[in-house]
Amino acid sequence: MEKIRTRFAPSPTGFMHIGNLRTCLYAYLWARKNNGTFVLRIEDTDQERYVEGAVDVIYATLKKAGIDHDEGPDKDGGYGPYIQSERKSLYLKYAQELVEKGGAYYCFCSKERLETLKDENGIGKYDKHCLSLTKEEVNAKLQAGEPYVIRQNIPEEGVSEYDDMVFGHICVPNKDMEDEILIKSDGMPTYNFANVVDDHLMHINCVIRGVEYLSSTPKYNLMYDAFGWERPQYMHLSPIMKDAQHKLSKRYGDANFEDFLEKGYLPEAIVNYIALLGWSPKGNEEILSMDQLIDMFDIEGISKSSSIFDEAKMRWMNGEYIKKLSVEDFIKYAKPYFDASKIAGKYDYTKLAQLLIPRIEIFSDIPEKVNFLEEFKEYDVSMFEHKKMKITLDIALKALTLCQDTLAKVDVWTNDNLKEILSSIAQANEMKTGQVFLPLRLAITAAASTPGGATEIAELIGKEETLRRLDFSINLLKKAL
Ligand code: GLU
Repeated sequence: MEKIRTRFAPSPTGFMHIGNLRTCLYAYLWARKNNGTFVLRIEDTDQERYVEGAVDVIYATLKKAGIDHDEGPDKDGGYGPYIQSERKSLYLKYAQELVEKGGAYYCFCSKERLETLKDENGIGKYDKHCLSLTKEEVNAKLQAGEPYVIRQNIPEEGVSEYDDMVFGHICVPNKDMEDEILIKSDGMPTYNFANVVDDHLMHINCVIRGVEYLSSTPKYNLMYDAFGWERPQYMHLSPIMKDAQHKLSKRYGDANFEDFLEKGYLPEAIVNYIALLGWSPKGNEEILSMDQLIDMFDIEGISKSSSIFDEAKMRWMNGEYIKKLSVEDFIKYAKPYFDASKIAGKYDYTKLAQLLIPRIEIFSDIPEKVNFLEEFKEYDVSMFEHKKMKITLDIALKALTLCQDTLAKVDVWTNDNLKEILSSIAQANEMKTGQVFLPLRLAITAAASTPGGATEIAELIGKEETLRRLDFSINLLKKAL
């Protein structure tokens, strides 16, 4: 069997939409799964949309996402150049060949004439006016330097059909298709033409792309046929939606890979999540590494309907990835968030990491989870009351006073040692451990909930600060009683 060759063909827009990244991922998975080749091609024929540095964004995104292409502008596999603007001279030659073969023709119609073909809504098919020009007439016009485009010659009757790997049989009446422009008046190819020529010349035999191309594909197939080239297989993918009505789009924000990284998602978690947007693996396991994705990816699991982007689900998944990080790796990602929070540079980041690893979903949760350490202030003492633990204000005061006396004498200020000491305070005074730990935690944080308990936080803020806060809280309670 012929080796599978897939490609990802982004336009350099300066950002990577999550939907495009998913298309890229599927093309990559399909190539890897079949021991095939994954090609990166830059589609920059639309010079107006060109953004400086945009190709670097594409490389950087693929790298972060763990998707390594086998061929591309930076990895010649013998089918280059892999940037369409560097292939410019090639397209005209092939368009001329297509004209020779009857699959296309020169069109010299003026803008004004084309306007007359449109109705009040600006809709109207080109009427094949220039198809009737003789070869001599065409040559004369070309020699006179008349501006022209080259259009595809679509049969007026019959149907065009193909089998899509996801959507099955697709059949479009030829009369519903227009003789679209293949070469523009500036000599540049349109997407319609360039994708066919490039996919053929790059030996792409499996085209994986967005469903918006599903119904134009018969047009492309007509070109393959006219050239006498073998058609590729096609796998079209349904869009990712924000909700039932709206596509995930840049306009709504949050549709870009980089935005999610900035928000504190791990690239592996994003990739894992988007792999499942539009494809369901067999079995229930959802946390899947790239190798597992390659192993499990299949056509049957690809959905024909659109999928809804559920950020809450992606957050959860990211939390699962964070739980697996080592403290060192966690700190690497978390440091900018620590540094941007109120605790910047103030506490032992390793200890904070140990507290936070099981407790956050995305890194941008960090400031909100740690700021309390620096926000100690007067609070409502009724927060000490805890029915289930049988904690009243009196019990709380008793616990805190005992803690104050004992902790003042403690030298080994570690979580483990403090835990032992608090437990023995409870035991010696016939109190439940919670009746000592809970009041102390509140007394030194002033916060209803905190990542980590009394002794972990006491260790973090240190002996002096613990005793200072304890004193403050005891006075607060005394005033209330
Ligand atoms: N450059 C096109 C896009 O970004 C690629 C479509 C295709 O994969 O054929 O939509």
